Amino acid sequence: WHRWIYDDYYRTYLVPLEKYGLVIPHDLIEESWNQIWNKGYVHEVAQFFATGWLANYWRIDPMTDKDFEWFEYKYPGWCDKYGKWWENYNRLSTPNGHHPIVAEDEDYQYPHRCWTCMVPCLVREDMVMDEVDGQVRTYCHEMCRWTDTVAFRPTYLGRQTPNMGKLIGKREWETLYHGWNWADVVADMGYVRDDGKTLIA
Ligand SMILES: [Zn+2]
Repeated sequence: WHRWIYDDYYRTYLVPLEKYGLVIPHDLIEESWNQIWNKGYVHEVAQFFATGWLANYWRIDPMTDKDFEWFEYKYPGWCDKYGKWWENYNRLSTPNGHHPIVAEDEDYQYPHRCWTCMVPCLVREDMVMDEVDGQVRTYCHEMCRWTDTVAFRPTYLGRQTPNMGKLIGKREWETLYHGWNWADVVADMGYVRDDGKTLIA
């Protein structure tokens, strides 16, 4: 992760843009390291997509003892924080009269979605809210809030921004399908094969 953030992303990609006049937010690189490494962002992402497997066309395999050891070795403390949930994920991966893990009570709070980057607000302490055009929106981080409420407005620092992204439309999957029957959601997403079976079950 260190190499990816500081070498690949920062030194190879961002810093060279400086000579073209772009303002590079150097301190944000430190913050991305902080989020990804210190605050466990990557583990939260994995857990989120694993819990939502039934809304995907792929599913993360249950983990083996070797996998558990690898994670604890690479990320000391991982087992304490995520181990129990992944054990339950293993247990619930085989149909046995129970619901998919997202609908079972396994000590997981389904997160709000970030209006800007559309990844859920996975690091709880960084989640912020704001109101735009009379609508309350959630953001995964102050920078995503800034992007929507300050940078992507019709004017920025007094200049018109006709080419800026607008972050409009149906941005939240959860809102789009709110109140739908699950079978209709799966069909609407196109995850039903010609033989009537779904792509993963
Ligand atoms: Zn975000």
